[in-house]
Amino acid sequence: MWMADVIKLLDQAYFSKDDLVSLLAADESDTKLIFKKAAEVREKYVGKKVFFRGLIEYSNKCAKNCLYCGIRCGNTKVQRYEMTEEEVLEAATFAFKNNYGSIVIQSGERQDKRFTETIIHLLEKIKALSEGKLGVTLSLGEQTEETYKKWFDHGGHRYLLRIEVSNRELYAKLHPNDHLHSYDQRLEALKTLKKLGYQAGTGVMIGLPYQTIRDLADDLIFFREFDIDMIGMGPYIEHAETPLYGVYESVIPLNERFRLALKMIAILRIMMKDINIAATTAMQTIDKQGREKAIMVGANIIMPNLTPVKYRENYLLYENKPCIDEEAEECMSCLEARIHLAGATIGYGEWGDSKHFNHRFPTQPTD
Ligand code: SAH
Ligand code: SF4
Repeated sequence: MWMADVIKLLDQAYFSKDDLVSLLAADESDTKLIFKKAAEVREKYVGKKVFFRGLIEYSNKCAKNCLYCGIRCGNTKVQRYEMTEEEVLEAATFAFKNNYGSIVIQSGERQDKRFTETIIHLLEKIKALSEGKLGVTLSLGEQTEETYKKWFDHGGHRYLLRIEVSNRELYAKLHPNDHLHSYDQRLEALKTLKKLGYQAGTGVMIGLPYQTIRDLADDLIFFREFDIDMIGMGPYIEHAETPLYGVYESVIPLNERFRLALKMIAILRIMMKDINIAATTAMQTIDKQGREKAIMVGANIIMPNLTPVKYRENYLLYENKPCIDEEAEECMSCLEARIHLAGATIGYGEWGDSKHFNHRFPTQPTD
């Protein structure tokens, strides 16, 4: 594209699918313009602050068998764990004392009563130890409306449930063909979360086998149409113990996947100016400065890992995950310096709610 054309396109209030495809396919010099615009939009609409969500990978026990995921139930080489209550509360206390503002509790998906009740119990304890000050995001997969409601009533107020891919046929190719892995159910679950009043987050993997640029353009349109509050998306990364390993159909090299993921973040920031966008760990897996680069092109959320080191090697959704041998404090100090280098500041002690959500519900209390 001519430079003037890109600049004109980026100023449009609305991108069509064709616009999105040409932005996603932009060459290096056009991409720089996209990144520049995204940085301006970020600063204008959500400011310079980056918010922390301390990540607690509560358990790798999972009833599902997604074809891309390293902790799928079919992978018998993984040693399964569940953090103890004490360990979860210790991690939450660390987050609270270090002014993180929020935590994320993530886990493999289970719907059994013991699991759902344990989460309620943990939510109660976390609220108590922080006098209600620590924000809690849940990322515990698909659950019944009743369970989502209970967790919401006990203080979970944000929920991350990636659609993974918005294209129904592609979804079917990446999941077993059974009732546990239904695109419609996942979509329904997202709708339920929104209906119940959660700040709803979703996202996709970028650079999957069979995935095209047009699919990614559809993903961006899906986020806009769903009017989503938060996004966590990152590159797909192979895991040897999964059925998708070795499938190379339309697979692009890791460095291109990373570049594409940065473009997705930047374009989404320009499209949905006031949402929260995470700089995900998968970005850092490919490029050591991946999260900082994501911040520079529009992301405003970082999830420092608070999972005890002894469990980390068993929570490998994909290979080469970074920081698996570092304690929380070490991660913390390197992160702070890195964020400042990316020209951002840290919103210590703030919930850092999605401004988009607050605009949707202007009467809701924020911090
Ligand atoms: N079980 C929950 C939460 C844990 S999985 C759920 O599935 O929602 C969290 C995310 O990890 C998934 O949504 C998926 O997008 C991502 N993930 C899984 N395998 C991956 C891989 N091989 N590469 C990149 N991301 C992956
Ligand atoms: Fe389980 Fe989530 Fe991995 Fe699917 S992506 S296998 S639900 S942990």
